[in-house]
Amino acid sequence: VGATEERHPRWICLDVGETLIDESRVWLEWARLLDVPALTFLAAIGATIARGERNSLAFEMVGRPDWHDSLSAFRAEYGTFRESDLYPDAKPAIAALGEQGYRIAIVANQPAERSAELRALAVDAEVMAMSDEIGLWKPDPAFFAHALELMGNPNPEDVAYVGDRLDNDVRPSIASGMRAVWLRRGPWGVIGDGTSAPAETALVVDSLADLVDRSGELWPLPAVAAHG
Ligand SMILES: [Mg+2]
Repeated sequence: VGATEERHPRWICLDVGETLIDESRVWLEWARLLDVPALTFLAAIGATIARGERNSLAFEMVGRPDWHDSLSAFRAEYGTFRESDLYPDAKPAIAALGEQGYRIAIVANQPAERSAELRALAVDAEVMAMSDEIGLWKPDPAFFAHALELMGNPNPEDVAYVGDRLDNDVRPSIASGMRAVWLRRGPWGVIGDGTSAPAETALVVDSLADLVDRSGELWPLPAVAAHG
């Protein structure tokens, strides 16, 4: 029976921020709300990324340590995800990867309501869950274990996790046994040393369109076992 054993189809599990959604509006809205010039604030965010610091230090850098007081105003101003927030290749890539036979999941660090907002924008995935819904956040290994559960516990090697961050996406997905795709867009994807991806990274791409073109490289044919 082993030889005819059914294999799980392969999954592609996508991050959201800077993978599907361009988060420029998040930071521009904060700059506007706090009355900080946009370039100054974006540069401060970049500095925290380059230094490996938490992004909230950028608020202190620009003299707005009391930014928490503006959280509800920010939420009201930012509102929901919009069609224009989607990277242009997001929906076409999901559709194309589905046509290639991959099962699609979207599991990411986001507020709970983003799942419904993505579905309202016709972003289609078999499995969709946000960190604030499941109570687990990247890079916690439990987040990735739970994502696998949501997919019906496939072999982790049959899941490619696609994200823009080495710290939150690439390294922890490799640690959980998945195949990691580093998407080099957004500030986390482009700042810093491009050679710093772990050797185990399955694929490095510049866009989701690039991933569609190169998905065949994700699971190279297994090497024939040497005999003797
Ligand atoms: Mg991201």
